[in-house]
Amino acid sequence: MTTLFISDLHLETDRPDIGEQFFDFLEREAGDAEELYILGDLFDAWVGDDDPNPHYGDVKAALRKLVDSGVPVYFMHGNRDFMVGEDFGEETGVRILPDPIAVDLYGDHVLLSHGDAMCTDDFEYQQIRVMTRKPEWQAMMRAKPLEERLMLAKAARAESIARGQTLDMDIMDVNDKAVKKTILDYGVDILLHGHTHRPDIHFVDLGDRVAKRIVLGDWYDHGSVLRWDADGPVLSNLPR
Ligand code: MN
Repeated sequence: MTTLFISDLHLETDRPDIGEQFFDFLEREAGDAEELYILGDLFDAWVGDDDPNPHYGDVKAALRKLVDSGVPVYFMHGNRDFMVGEDFGEETGVRILPDPIAVDLYGDHVLLSHGDAMCTDDFEYQQIRVMTRKPEWQAMMRAKPLEERLMLAKAARAESIARGQTLDMDIMDVNDKAVKKTILDYGVDILLHGHTHRPDIHFVDLGDRVAKRIVLGDWYDHGSVLRWDADGPVLSNLPR
């Protein structure tokens, strides 16, 4: 049996091709999997579980179908869809995980994370992250009318794109010290995350041992999946 990991699909109405590939992936491959983990940024934006967007409705229905077929699905918040809430979990049957969380996979002790919390060189972003993860901030946001939340999300996205173009690429990657600290704090062999859109397998020298850091890819141009079974993890592209 195989456990599947994906992240950073950034599903949105304007990119139905990504949605189609995701539905196809759920239908064909995930149906035979032991479990499916979605490590954040499944959606390009999520302003609240009350958003009646029909594309998101299709995504929820597809996830519900997979869960009902007997495949457990886990979701961790990303920096774009951290407002995914309990109603989403109830509607889909998807279990929402804290970030990070340690799991045992076929004998390996693995820490799962979206990854943005380790991008500590981007100090301004970390401040925004702390603010937007507070329950008070989220309650204040949920109390706003849907139209206003959609407008705010659009503005935040435009700002994030503009900011991304002015920042040094290294600043938006994970920080080495933060990676080592995270691995040591949780005592894991492997750290698995997304967010940076730089799929790769890195070796992390901890002095007395070497850990691994596996990075999932995004779904902008093609799908990206990590398949993990008794032989270990394999990172692959899904052609579109
Ligand atoms: Mn992200």
